[in-house]
Amino acid sequence: MDDRQFRNAMSMFATGISVITTTLDYDVHGMTANAFMSVSLNPKLVLVSIGERAKMHHYIQTTGRYAVSFLAEDQREISMTFAGQMEGQRSVEFDWFNGLPVIRDALAAISCDVVDAHKAGDHTLFIAEVSDVRLATGQPLLFYQGKYSRAHAFA
Ligand code: FAD
Ligand code: NAD
Repeated sequence: MDDRQFRNAMSMFATGISVITTTLDYDVHGMTANAFMSVSLNPKLVLVSIGERAKMHHYIQTTGRYAVSFLAEDQREISMTFAGQMEGQRSVEFDWFNGLPVIRDALAAISCDVVDAHKAGDHTLFIAEVSDVRLATGQPLLFYQGKYSRAHAFA
């Protein structure tokens, strides 16, 4: 199977969009990720799968902490910015939450501390214990078949 066929198959699994953020030596770094999941309720664990060539991989290994912001439907440009898909450097407004930067007006934000890291092929699964959550209201930004879309609720 070639890479395109694998990605086409994976693209049929619709996801939300998160931006993973952390801070190191006063530098704030963010990265768009859809390979996020809720793992355990007791203790409260989440994970994100980060490509080993991503700068974020080094940042999380070094800081041992990250935040996750779930994007709202009007935050497509934010997703593209943190995936390196926008022209030029963009200035982004962050809020601070438990000492971590999070995306302003995201649907929810989570702060967490890494408790385990598993190398999995060319990615690492960073499993982290959630220290706090912040909730807002709104509709999610979705990613399906390599494109952004909106949720349509059943009547
Ligand atoms: P860079 O590529 O250097 O940074 C990412 C972008 O964020 C750059 O444009 C940078 O300018 C900008 N940026 C970073 N910090 C700031 C800041 N403080 N202010 C303003 N802009 C800033 N990759 C994975 O490993 N796992 C995934 O689950 C995953 N899911 C994805 C889902 C989607 C829908 C898309 C489009 C991409 C996904 N990627 C995923 C790919 C990943 O987002 C890109 O490869 C990304 O460029 C990797 O970021 P980086 O850490 O290497 O840093
Ligand atoms: P795409 O068609 O590349 O992605 C469709 C699906 O394939 C994604 O939702 C993901 O489930 C899977 N996928 C894609 N690249 C992967 C990778 N390197 N490792 C594991 N799974 C992967 O969508 P696109 O719009 O062309 O993506 C834009 C860029 O973002 C591409 O460079 C893509 O590789 C990258 N991306 C990476 C991941 C990831 O590392 N987990 C996830 C999504 C997108």
